[in-house]
Amino acid sequence: MKICHKIIFAIFLVSLSMYSFPQKIVVAHRGASGYLPEHTLQAKAMAFAMGADYIEQDLVMTRDDQVVVIHDITLDRTSDVALQYPGRAREDGRHYVIDFSLEELKTLNMREGERTVDGERQQIYPNRFPSGSSTFRIATFSEEIELIQGLNYSMNKSVGIYPEIKSPEFHLAEGKDLSAAVLKVMKEYGYNNKRDKVFLQTFSWSEIKRLREILMPEAEMDLNLVMLAGTEEEYQWMFNREGMREVGRYADGFGPTKSLIIDTSLDKERVIISDLVKLAHDNGMQVHPYTFRSDTRGIPDYAESFDDLLRYFYFEAGVDGIFTDFPDQAVKFLSNQ
Ligand code: CA
Repeated sequence: MKICHKIIFAIFLVSLSMYSFPQKIVVAHRGASGYLPEHTLQAKAMAFAMGADYIEQDLVMTRDDQVVVIHDITLDRTSDVALQYPGRAREDGRHYVIDFSLEELKTLNMREGERTVDGERQQIYPNRFPSGSSTFRIATFSEEIELIQGLNYSMNKSVGIYPEIKSPEFHLAEGKDLSAAVLKVMKEYGYNNKRDKVFLQTFSWSEIKRLREILMPEAEMDLNLVMLAGTEEEYQWMFNREGMREVGRYADGFGPTKSLIIDTSLDKERVIISDLVKLAHDNGMQVHPYTFRSDTRGIPDYAESFDDLLRYFYFEAGVDGIFTDFPDQAVKFLSNQ
């Protein structure tokens, strides 16, 4: 009898936990960007095939008001713009997406990220896809949504999108309302409310409030919003009970850099998990930290392996999802639990 009671109690606990917490998710950070150049349609198709629950889009606006999928507001790290458009850099030496038309941007060869070291171009992640190989093009937000929705149709799946408004203040200063343009595209493709599989994210607190209070009501939309946060001074006010309560008034999710949950400088003997996840949960927010990488310097000392790192976050810290460049590994990890 005792064992029987224990089993019933265990089933009760399992069903309770299934009821209380939605399924843990994997967000493909810039697509399957550990394997193919970030934000290319190829990297997105691969992330889809790997079983990611959501696929991320970083969004920037062109000179002719098109919304394109690219991480930086500049083109230098991930394209051959300097070769193709000499003389088009700003005074800081960088080529800005916003200074180019979509037609011009479509001529660029997108590639694995590079940086300049001592005057030489160098691939940032040397073990990733060889920079400059094959042919990749920048995609518009619409093109990427059509890819994901098309695959959802042909593969009978329901993979979500996870768009980010990049540098909204920069865009507004340049006379462009990126958020309004992004909402318009999403509405055209049927993303309207919190039941739709979309999380709209930004690092700008003022933009989260503008989206919630002005832009979404005007567009008759009510999407899930995610407030991103880094370790910078501007976010410090959020990291306590009052701060999380204020963020939770506007956001449905909280996306901190992972060191805000477990300090990267810790070692195995002393792993301390911050109370941010609990505070976010207490205020009705899901928690999706970034960015989980299994390659060069991606695994902090306190974790024994990438799986161990994932275990700490999904099951010790209790996060609801993670952003990763290696969606296949996170999907496999979760499916083995
Ligand atoms: Ca992003």
